[in-house]
Amino acid sequence: MVGTGRLGARPAALDALDRFSARIGRDIEQVQAAGGNTSLKLDGVLYVKASGLWLADAPVRDVFVPVRLDPVREAIAADAADPVTAAVVGERNPEGLRPSIETTLHALLPHPVVVHTHSVRTIALAVCADAEARLVSRLDGLAWAFVPYCKPGLPLTQAVAQRLQRGACDVLVLGNHGLVVGAESVDAAARLLAEVERRLDVPVRATDGTVVEFGSWAQREGLRPAIHPKAHRTALDPRLVEIASGGSLYPDHVIFLGPASAVLPGGDDGAAIARAREKGQKLFLVPGKGVLLADDADRSADELAACLALVLERLSADARCRYLTHEDEAALMNWDAEAHRKELARARDASA
Ligand SMILES: [Zn+2]
Repeated sequence: MVGTGRLGARPAALDALDRFSARIGRDIEQVQAAGGNTSLKLDGVLYVKASGLWLADAPVRDVFVPVRLDPVREAIAADAADPVTAAVVGERNPEGLRPSIETTLHALLPHPVVVHTHSVRTIALAVCADAEARLVSRLDGLAWAFVPYCKPGLPLTQAVAQRLQRGACDVLVLGNHGLVVGAESVDAAARLLAEVERRLDVPVRATDGTVVEFGSWAQREGLRPAIHPKAHRTALDPRLVEIASGGSLYPDHVIFLGPASAVLPGGDDGAAIARAREKGQKLFLVPGKGVLLADDADRSADELAACLALVLERLSADARCRYLTHEDEAALMNWDAEAHRKELARARDASA
């Protein structure tokens, strides 16, 4: 039962989650932009990260929205279209924040603390066509499961619910997406996350070449260099260029950078740039030179450009990637919930 008397004040137990959330939120190998989310269950209430807010901001503003747990769980079981909105504790949500799109997943899992990240080590395995086989020996001894790609939100929650019928899991590797861990406490979740990261770690592929200055053509075409120095690595290795241009590997790439990556072999090529823009592409690889972004790309796009390089340089040399389908991409690009997230990202940039 929800103790309504407990809803008045922000529970002190959230302080530890704030600190942990900020730590992983500042680690681009775990969380990029507003991606990833954490939650705490306390007295029948799920405190879950708000959609569009950055975990990194947890110490400077309240990023958690309280949601009544039982109604969400009942609505998931009843296959309701929106299990979350009516369950938000309105009197504790003066800014009208929306709970994370992954709120149903946090509610479904039984653990008091749930952490979902876009760990680049996890994604580098989770995009492989044979991801599950690659995980078996690495995660041996943990209660884990691999869940093939589903659109984030309710479809993913329903797939996880189905998987949990076969047994409880503390670690979920989400195909073409990321990692979820659940534990009894914030400390235990932090330890489990670190353990999984240690097991999934691989040597980083060395990249030859240094980023060169782009000519004035880039500016003329409305493109600018990616901000994170590591983001350019994708363009400096022919294998990474081939993989990046072959399709989209995970949802936030599509949401912030459009589908796949455009390649400009000769650099200045107005027609190729126009065709890429037509498809919604915002990331341009100039092989051997570096990475350009559309100049209307925001800070979130820069985080995702760096993420791509961090994932690709961890891909096994024998990896065959499973890409998102065109239907998956279209579903992500025309998504109300994501339009809201992008709007908040722009607002955050503007106030930074
Ligand atoms: Zn996610």
